Amino acid sequence: MPESRAPFFVDWAITAKRSPQPLDTLVFLPTLTHPTGEIPLNPPFSKGEGKESFRSAAYEGGLGGKIDLLNPHLETAPFLSAITIVAILKRAMDYETVIGLEVHAQLLTKSKMFCRCSTDYASAPPNTHVCPVCLGMPGVLPTINQQAVEYTVMTALALNCTISDYTKFDRKNYPYPDLMKGYQISQYDAPFGHHGWLNIEVNGQKKKVAITRVHLEEDVAKLVHRASPGNGSYSLVDVNRSGVPLMEVVGEPDLRSPEEARQYLIKLRSILQYLGVSTGNMEEGSFRCDANISIRPKKSQELLAKVEVKNMNSFKAVYRALTYEAERQRKRAAEGKKLAQETRGWVEDKGITVAQRSKEYAHDYRYFPEPDLAPLVLSKEWVESLRAKLPELPEARRDRFLAQYDLPLYDANLLTGSKAMADYFEDCLKADKASPAAAKEISNWLLGEVSRIINANGIDIADFRKKVSPERLVGLLALGKKGEVSAAAAKSALEEMFASGQPAEDIIAQRGLGQISDSGAIEKEVMEAIKNNARAVADYKAGKKQSLKFLVGQVMRATRGRADPGLINELLAKKLEEV
Ligand SMILES: [Zn+2]
Repeated sequence: MPESRAPFFVDWAITAKRSPQPLDTLVFLPTLTHPTGEIPLNPPFSKGEGKESFRSAAYEGGLGGKIDLLNPHLETAPFLSAITIVAILKRAMDYETVIGLEVHAQLLTKSKMFCRCSTDYASAPPNTHVCPVCLGMPGVLPTINQQAVEYTVMTALALNCTISDYTKFDRKNYPYPDLMKGYQISQYDAPFGHHGWLNIEVNGQKKKVAITRVHLEEDVAKLVHRASPGNGSYSLVDVNRSGVPLMEVVGEPDLRSPEEARQYLIKLRSILQYLGVSTGNMEEGSFRCDANISIRPKKSQELLAKVEVKNMNSFKAVYRALTYEAERQRKRAAEGKKLAQETRGWVEDKGITVAQRSKEYAHDYRYFPEPDLAPLVLSKEWVESLRAKLPELPEARRDRFLAQYDLPLYDANLLTGSKAMADYFEDCLKADKASPAAAKEISNWLLGEVSRIINANGIDIADFRKKVSPERLVGLLALGKKGEVSAAAAKSALEEMFASGQPAEDIIAQRGLGQISDSGAIEKEVMEAIKNNARAVADYKAGKKQSLKFLVGQVMRATRGRADPGLINELLAKKLEEV
């Protein structure tokens, strides 16, 4: 359970039709929607309502209550205003969900996997980063990119894998227009790393997820599908992406829920970013995920059918697709229909998966050793030299944050989840030489106002940093400490600093946000407030102490949050005595 976070409650109400199913087979699967899309709820429903009362009320036809949004990933929760909750009552099958993820990450090398073409093609015109090797011309020979091998071995080490001392590349044969050679150079039975694991945490429960293998291959060309009135539909090929180093991390089917899958992806991406081997950007396609998802009767080892889901371009899409797919399989099974072994594609705007093709099997690819590349023998010394180069990883950094800065676990987890955020935090502390004890205050600002600005603008901390450097954020906090700006005014100042890229001092001077500590000026506003709020004054006089708060609020408003609240309180109490 994350600590130091105020629970955020929303009211919910559902209605249910009288169900022919026995009550103990009902589950509640709510979906929370708000302007930015659907938010998964986990655990699925209210802590406040007992299951029994829920069931009986649902059976009777309706129930309302509160849902606790105490979820670490619900950063946007405090900003939810319009909320609808859709509740679906379904018969709960006695099945469990089994999920295994395959992640492909483009590696941040300068050149491609087997040729010297630049990988920096993102804004390049199509087919400009190509050569005979990545175009798949006959008679050319590939050469191995050593940096890509190092990055893959470093990732395998960070994922606690055993590193193969003998490894090789293999040809994976299949015909497809995006595959220039008609085969992909990949790894079959001797991956760089195998038998690893990574830790995830869901609802405070730690779980170790096994990693099957980490191997290296090459990316394929990009197909752009078009349709025009005269020509019908057609496809264009951009070979720039062909041959970019692609690392594949295959996880064991240890995941039991879409939320576990999401946490696994978040953790894996975080590790790759800490290692600096991949941008981990899902929206841009440098970090892609395919999911194998099946259901099986509880306590059975037999999966009903293996289904692979593709085309998920964000963490949210993975969560939604897996939630949908698990439900679809349960429903079919409940109806007594057979589940097909197939590959399905996620259709984001419709929120469904659709059948694409029946699933290929490994032997269809006719793997055989790549005859143009010699096997690689990795010496122990070389592997150990890479291990020594590994940076501090997310969990180690979190533990250090706990010990070194005395932060709550909740803060440490959120700050170190992203390397860029953790760096920003520590750079603030470095910039703030005057008072190194301010760790918690900086954390509050980063997880509060700064995160709010980041979310509202759909950017990340790196973008924020371009506008507001750690030095400037610390500069703003220092003005607050000196009493030159009130807490409320500092928040608006930060907003302005982000919008204009100017330092705090300039903004505060230009916008007149400086704190009013001149008691004469505040006294004037205090007298105004007393004059204009006769009822509150009378209430206060009659012993209703809460009225003082109201009057303080009036003065704060009149001074646009710039007056020192302590001084207002003091002056108000004094003046009220005199009235
Ligand atoms: Zn090339």
